[in-house]
Amino acid sequence: MPIRPELRHLYRGPAWAAIRARILERAGHACERCGKPNRERLRVTRGGIWYDALASTWRNDAGEANGFNYPGITGRTVYVIRCVITIAHLDHDPHNNADANLAALCQHCHLKHDTHFHHANARRTRAAQVGQAWLSREIEEGVRPYAKKHGGSVEERVSRPFKLREER
Ligand SMILES: [Zn+2]
Repeated sequence: MPIRPELRHLYRGPAWAAIRARILERAGHACERCGKPNRERLRVTRGGIWYDALASTWRNDAGEANGFNYPGITGRTVYVIRCVITIAHLDHDPHNNADANLAALCQHCHLKHDTHFHHANARRTRAAQVGQAWLSREIEEGVRPYAKKHGGSVEERVSRPFKLREER
């Protein structure tokens, strides 16, 4: 997901460069979810499965090794990609640069982390386009207002509301 133009300044300059360097160092220059090494050319397939050449094993997107006989790997298309680790804000608030809120993630893991949030933003964008009104602020701003299976109250999920469309 590209960075919004009005937030781009947060990712420029020496302050962000220092944060980025610190988190990459903490992560050992690898994805903190799946373990892909930064800036390496890697063999990957669908679902974030990748080949760890150092350990001679396929790994899933939790970093778990599964040898050569990864379930379902046979017949899959294998792509060669260049892994680029980026720094993710776990609560989606680009102003919150606390270490615990930052993670070094590869493209696959970053996108996976952001997916629900992207869906929620898309939902608000579509609603704004048709002039939909909201029953409550919780429903309008909730990342997943109708799904509670991952726990957490509505209040927790909206405690850090992302900038809404009309605030741009
Ligand atoms: Zn990853």
